[in-house]
This record gives sequence, C-alpha cells and structure tokens, in this order.
Amino acid sequence: MTVRVPIGADCPAVDNLPDAVACTGLAKAFGDVNAVGGVDFAVRPGEIAALLGPSGCGKTTMLRLFAGFERPDAGRIEIAGRVVADAAQGINIAPEKRRIGMVFQDFALFPHLSVAKNVGYALGRRPDARRVDELLDFVGLGGLGERQPHELSGGQQQRVALARALAIEPALILLDEPFSNLDASLRSELRGEVRRLLREAQVSALIVTHDQDEALSMADHLAVMHDGCIEQSGSPEQVYLEPANGWIARFLGDVNVLPGRIEGGAVETPFGRLPAPDDLAGASAVEVLLRPESLRVRREGHEPGTTQATVLEREFFGHDQLLRLELASGVHVHARRLGHPAWLPGDRVAVTLDGPFTVIAAESAATAA
Ligand code: ATP
Repeated sequence: MTVRVPIGADCPAVDNLPDAVACTGLAKAFGDVNAVGGVDFAVRPGEIAALLGPSGCGKTTMLRLFAGFERPDAGRIEIAGRVVADAAQGINIAPEKRRIGMVFQDFALFPHLSVAKNVGYALGRRPDARRVDELLDFVGLGGLGERQPHELSGGQQQRVALARALAIEPALILLDEPFSNLDASLRSELRGEVRRLLREAQVSALIVTHDQDEALSMADHLAVMHDGCIEQSGSPEQVYLEPANGWIARFLGDVNVLPGRIEGGAVETPFGRLPAPDDLAGASAVEVLLRPESLRVRREGHEPGTTQATVLEREFFGHDQLLRLELASGVHVHARRLGHPAWLPGDRVAVTLDGPFTVIAAESAATAA
C-alpha cells in the first residue's frame, strides 16, 4: 500500500497507514568505519522527522540508504509498507522506484533548464503544464516558471527543489541539510515556510541536519544520532528537556550539570532536594541536568529552594542574556534570562529553579561526553 499525497487535498486519517519509512537492524560500513550500526527507526505518515547529529555520525548514510544510493550490509527498509531493501533477501529497489522526493543542500537544479522545466523534469517526458503551474503556485513561485535558476534567490531555488520533490507525489521527502547554503536570516524564514508547505501537502518528511535549531523547530519527531546509532528519539521537547545522557544534553544546547547523590529518593542541590526517578535508586552517583533558562534570577528572595549568588559574567544577545553565576555554595552555573533588565557582573542575586530538570546516573554523562 502506498500513501498518496495530492497537493493541498484532504488526506484520510493516518492511523491505519504504514510508516512512511521504517528500518530495522539497518547497518552500513565503509571499510572499518561503521557508518550506520544496526539502527531501528521509523517516520510515521504525515510526520516531519529530523535526524540530528554531529559531522560523521552517519546521518547522511542513513538518508542515502533510504533513498537507495547505498546498499545496506544488514537490515531491512520499508517505504509506505513496501520492502525496498532487505540485505538478507538480496532486495535493493532502485532509487527512482522508491517514491521518494529529494531536496539537497545545493538545490541540485539543472542550470540550463527553466524553473518550470526543472519541476516538469520530475514528471516525465511530457509534463502536464497545469500540474507544473500548480506546484509552482503551491511553493509561492507562481509566474516565475520561465526564469532560469540563476535568476532566483537561494531561498527561491530551494522552493523550486521542493516543488520538484513534491511533483511525484512521494511517499516520503528526504531533505539533506536543506538550508545550510542560505544565510542565517533567510534560513530561519525558510524553515518555517518549508515546514508549513510540508504540512499543507500532508507529506511525510525526514530532514537530516547537524543544526540543533533547525531540528528542534521543524521536527515533530527528533532522533539524535551519535557514532552510527540513534541515542535518543522523541518529541523535540522530550529530547531537549529530558535528555537521556549528558552528551545529548550538551549537544542540544547549554546545560548545567550538578553532581549529587540520591538519599531518600531525592538529590540534594543548591536549589533544594529534587526528586529522583525510582530506577536510579541504586545509582552511587547521579547528575542533575538543568537548562540555563530553568533558573530564575531576582534581586531578592529567601523562600525554600532559593540560593544567593553573585553574577560573574554576562553575555548579551539582544533577546536574552547568558549569566555566569557563583552560587553561595561555590558552584558555578549559567542562567539565561530575557535581555532586559540587565544583570551585571558583581550584582548580588537570588536564584531559584523554575523549570524542568533531569536526573541521570553519573556514568552515562561521563561515558557519553
Ligand atoms: P556530515 O554531517 O559531515 O555529512 P554525517 O553524519 O552525514 O556527516 P556520514 O556522511 O553518514 O556522516 O558518514 C559517516 C561515516 O562514514 C564517516 O566516518 C564518513 O567518513 C564515512 N563515510 C561516509 N561515506 C563514505 C564513503 N563513501 N566511503 C568511505 N567512508 C564513508
């Protein structure tokens, strides 16, 4: 069964549809490098998923395996319920038969073809001109079909690439670092726009990126890769606020790590006793991970859970400021607050924990770091 995604049309409820893509035990090595080390992963129909990881973690290889540009050493891949690769059975369907649309970092448009012809190319020898117009209208490029790619901005070229990827009514769109060739302001604008278009087309998508902001802001489902494995998978909120280990916590943003011990089901911290999960009851040492924005800073405060502190340093970013604080206990932490009012080095402040935190076994932070 395949998922049809008519542009702009209402699609049926997706509960009974197969995953847009699912792999089990997927592995690929290049010489002695295990680029992908036996991964289970799935993108639900209609979902925008992101594979996020540092350079060399194996995310592009995953995408190339899904697209059919690489043959797996082990494991199986299904796209919309159809087996497209199975190493044990020697199945490896050609890329053009997988119903996948691709959007690349460098746009990959034909420079000598007009915008309309670039989109029409995906539709075969005699593309339906109305369909091409419909696709260009859909991505906000109506009327620009006769232009050459070089007559468009980078953001517009990426929209052409998206229209071309949507043209075949794909079961899945794979986007490989789609915004990294664009400047910062355009990148954030286009992220929102592409997310809206993918949603409107009701197409399933997998974005491969090393950019944390991109993955967090665009994905419904975020999988963090490290050394050929998926270390954690969940909603962006889950992964950011409840990281499974210290490495993931640090990879996704600034984090304070407070070492501690569990006594009576809680960890003693400068912000009071914080409850620890039951499964850590036997851990000899734990770490409390908390984001700088989870710390509240005020001029004064003495209620339980409040500690006095001194501002050591301040970095001002306009919308917010990052403060390095020395707590009364001597521990140093970072707090992120709105840009105004300004907190300056030397200020005496009261700090409380006012947001999510995670307690993990100390070993996991140490080994993953
Ligand atoms: P980047 O963000 O830098 O593209 P990545 O996370 O996408 O990195 P991959 O490109 O999948 O990582 O590479 C994973 C590992 O496999 C790396 O060590 C890389 O050097 C290696 N690798 C990838 N493709 C090949 C290849 N064709 N031949 C040899 N080694 C390869």
